Amino acid sequence: MKAWLKFSPRIVSKPVISDLIKDYDVTFNILRADITPKGGKMLIEISGSEAEEGIKYMEKEGIQLNPIKKVVKKDEDKCMDCGECYSLCPVEAITVDEKWNVELDDQKCIGCGFCTSSCPTKAIKIAY
Ligand code: SF4
Ligand code: SF4
Repeated sequence: MKAWLKFSPRIVSKPVISDLIKDYDVTFNILRADITPKGGKMLIEISGSEAEEGIKYMEKEGIQLNPIKKVVKKDEDKCMDCGECYSLCPVEAITVDEKWNVELDDQKCIGCGFCTSSCPTKAIKIAY
């Protein structure tokens, strides 16, 4: 499961994530993080036999968790299939089909944001 975690300033200094990994059978992958002493956000992928318990633990400790299905959203009306995003994606999450339609694979996407900042029509946005 992929999710955005929101950290308030109160939680930033707590070792919640390291305790999670130590105490639960979870695979925890940090895809993107923007955290300062004032708080912040982290995009993660969590799996494992105790993922559900691990999620409850994080929420109990005060981390707000927002599960997501899509890391990025593409507005098909704005996309002109120019391919600019395709050439920049570092994990091949963007493909071009035989009709030259640009498609996104949310399973592969790591939320780096290269596509969102490069899109000339602002058709792609990170989904928070
Ligand atoms: S850069 Fe924007 S307009 Fe071009 S293919 Fe990607 S989403 Fe579509
Ligand atoms: S956010 Fe990054 S990884 Fe995801 S589709 Fe855009 S360029 Fe690729």
